[in-house]
Amino acid sequence: SMLYFIVPLLLICLILCEIMLIQWRHRETVIKKLSQTDPLTNLLNRRSFSEKVFQLEKMHQQYAIIILDLDHFKSINDQYGHSIGDDTLKLVSQTLLDHTPKTDIVARYGGEEFIMILPALNRHQAINIANRCREAIAETLIRNEDGTEFNISASFGVAMSDETSKKEDVIRMADQALYIAKDKGRNQ
Ligand code: GH3
Ligand code: MG
Ligand code: MG
Repeated sequence: SMLYFIVPLLLICLILCEIMLIQWRHRETVIKKLSQTDPLTNLLNRRSFSEKVFQLEKMHQQYAIIILDLDHFKSINDQYGHSIGDDTLKLVSQTLLDHTPKTDIVARYGGEEFIMILPALNRHQAINIANRCREAIAETLIRNEDGTEFNISASFGVAMSDETSKKEDVIRMADQALYIAKDKGRNQ
């Protein structure tokens, strides 16, 4: 007769535990996603980008790194305001996603700097993708609250990994290439 008590009680406990576990796992996924994402652009943040590169490096897969930095972005903020600056960063992020293959990883690397890793592409293909993104950014019109529009541009650097290269070295090479592009007049 005690069983009539204990069995339903146990069942209720089991169900409650299961509900708690489901909620816990859900929260875990939400928090994980938040910790990997840049809140303004919804792109991957720098930390989760590094993790992805690390995984590719471990698999000894070749990859290209593309780094880009918006040109004269400080003057965009100064001229049109910080909020339009933020809108610009969101637009650029979407443009980058629209012009890169699904297998590529696009991240916000710093304030107005973005970084991409393109697995299994050769130099020629990587440069083509960088150029496509560059043209798309240069063609993007950004609208002010008063209806006027303006253009922006970005400078790019591309570098390839080889079997022995460390990710820091590939990123540094791409960064050096980016600074050459800035030096030579930007939007290239
Ligand atoms: P360059 O062509 O040499 O790159 O010039 P620049 O003006 O883009 O370079 P600089 O590093 O002097 O300025 C970067 C600016 O980006 C300054 C900073 O206020 C702005 N910025 C960084 N993060 C954000 C952001 O999240 N939102 C907005 N609106 N501006 C940002
Ligand atoms: Mg910068
Ligand atoms: Mg800049």
